Amino acid sequence: MARYTESVCRQCRRETEKLFLKGDRCYSEKCAIERRPFIPGQHGKGRRQKLSEYGIQLREKQKVKRIYGVLEQQFRNYFKKADRQKGVTGDNLLVLLERRMDNVIFRLGLATSRKEARQLVNHGHFTLNGKKADIPSLLVKVGDVIVVRGKSKDSPKLQEIKAQAAYKTPPEWLEIDAENLTGRVVGYPTREQIGLDIKENLIVELYSR
Ligand code: SF4
Repeated sequence: MARYTESVCRQCRRETEKLFLKGDRCYSEKCAIERRPFIPGQHGKGRRQKLSEYGIQLREKQKVKRIYGVLEQQFRNYFKKADRQKGVTGDNLLVLLERRMDNVIFRLGLATSRKEARQLVNHGHFTLNGKKADIPSLLVKVGDVIVVRGKSKDSPKLQEIKAQAAYKTPPEWLEIDAENLTGRVVGYPTREQIGLDIKENLIVELYSR
């Protein structure tokens, strides 16, 4: 399976903003953007970005791909699907990305980052509606139930997550029973509930060129 191999903090520095890819570290002084707020590379420090209209659209797309950990072809497929759906294409695109299994695990508070969520899903720690679900790109539907699998519940990592999950509140479209490590999808997110600082219209313009 293809994936990003570049350091995650480097991805934030490339976009010159925090993308919150590394869990708790992102909220600490160790955050690379706090310490080195410039584009990576030999000449990154003195480099001023003068972006064309195309460049601005491209950077917005790259940013969203990095936030959700999705590669180009898959992202393009999400866009095509969003474009075929009724409603606003940009909103549809973000809702599709939010419905990914790894994102839902993250949003439920069962992982500290989407990257960690993806790893937990890959390692088969969850069931979706009673069946093992180890594909991070699975799209959840309203009514779906996600449960941490029996043996996994005792692992130190999931015990740590369970303790943290009790103090987290998921977005309105998800419900969590932290005691039983069970999540439920009760709706699809609105654009407001997604809440990320994304200008999705730029991505629509980019793909409409
Ligand atoms: Fe980005 Fe988090 Fe790394 Fe900071 S610590 S640069 S927000 S991934």
